[in-house]
Amino acid sequence: MSAPEADELDRIIETIPENVVAICTRLREAGQRGWVVGGCVRDLLRGAPAKDWDIATDAEPKQVKRLFRRVIPTGIKHGTVTVLLHDVPYEVTTLRGEGAYVDGRRPADIVFLDDIEQDLARRDFTFNAIAIDPIDHALIDPFGGRADLESRTLRAVGVPLERFCEDGLRVLRATRFAATLGCDIEDATFRAMRDERALATLKKVSAERVHDEWLKTMRAQKPSIAFDLLRGAGVMVLHCPELHNLSDAQWQRSMATLDATPRRAVLRIAALVHAVGSDAADGILRRLKFSNEDRTRVLALVENHPPDTNHSWTDAQVRRWLRRVTPPLVADQCALAIAEATARQDDAAAGALTQLQGRAEHWLSQQTPLESRDLAIGGKELMSELGMAPSKRVGDMLSALLELVLDDPSLNERHALLQKARSMLNGDTV
Ligand code: ATP
Ligand code: MG
Repeated sequence: MSAPEADELDRIIETIPENVVAICTRLREAGQRGWVVGGCVRDLLRGAPAKDWDIATDAEPKQVKRLFRRVIPTGIKHGTVTVLLHDVPYEVTTLRGEGAYVDGRRPADIVFLDDIEQDLARRDFTFNAIAIDPIDHALIDPFGGRADLESRTLRAVGVPLERFCEDGLRVLRATRFAATLGCDIEDATFRAMRDERALATLKKVSAERVHDEWLKTMRAQKPSIAFDLLRGAGVMVLHCPELHNLSDAQWQRSMATLDATPRRAVLRIAALVHAVGSDAADGILRRLKFSNEDRTRVLALVENHPPDTNHSWTDAQVRRWLRRVTPPLVADQCALAIAEATARQDDAAAGALTQLQGRAEHWLSQQTPLESRDLAIGGKELMSELGMAPSKRVGDMLSALLELVLDDPSLNERHALLQKARSMLNGDTV
């Protein structure tokens, strides 16, 4: 490593949190080693905030348990314990290599190792297979992950097809990283991803894990990068033939809408499945084990057509529209419609919808009356004041009062409403 590179590495290592360095120091004092590994090293090297810090060690889990005061045996069978330091959890995992993969999902047995390079060799992509020793200030990068990160290349560690045949989830992880990191998949790696043997392994991955990967993919600025790859690699046809079979034009429109949709996972799922219609969307969401809550929300967004923005709406029209939609969905419904307009480069519609969204939110924040129960007078009071017997007429009268209040919310006041009701009873036009 050249001197400037060493300096840069020192600067990067200095940003590792004190707690993480303290864990590695404690291990070293006990005659063992600790390395920072995985996603956090990748994120450190690309100057992005790391989410969680994973530490690899040559100490066995039993020993790690003895060395720290607060330890939770999270996955002791797989060699992982969680060390709590100042209430922050850190996963400390004993170096491991893996036995054969029996079912395309999970290694049959785990062997503990004392060699960090062998541990890195079982990881999925070169930029996820880098370790840092924060005590020695050493970077262990046997597969050229740092260079791949710099050139934004996603490359499998080892023989690509073997790696995808060991664990089908890696195909989905590859497309997710391509989108979230904005990198290209190296040719041999991509060829292996679309190989039928890799796809056969991917078929065994549980729907829950596919669901989780889809949601994580939605955090990318342009999730379309991942979904285009999934369709191109023949993965989409396995999980969602409905989406795979969209015409190219429909697919491209969906992808443009998806990228233009704000980064809220469930909203983006609605953008993704919108084009297939609500029945097919329901099937996809059930198959991929979305929660009832998410499914209901997505279907409501898919079913509700965006308002027609060709004409400018009066306030009363905005309030009447709010009656027809579910208020908590208004922001998402507008956001989706704005994304669709942006995708078809209809700036005028996007502008009109943005304005509508602002006005809708204004009326909702004012708690403008939208239902009979929001009226300043109820059925019982109406009956006693006007001497009416219970009948359908009372309900009709409340509906008529609500229409008046939708036109002019300032009328929602007991005295004014009673006056209007009296006139109605007398047959006057109101
Ligand atoms: P993120 O946390 O953003 O999803 P990550 O790379 O940290 O990304 P994790 O699932 O937290 O992903 O895994 C941590 C590390 O474990 C990875 O960086 C990689 O080295 C390894 N790893 C995770 N899943 C696999 C897998 N399916 N096959 C091989 N190695 C994996
Ligand atoms: Mg992680």
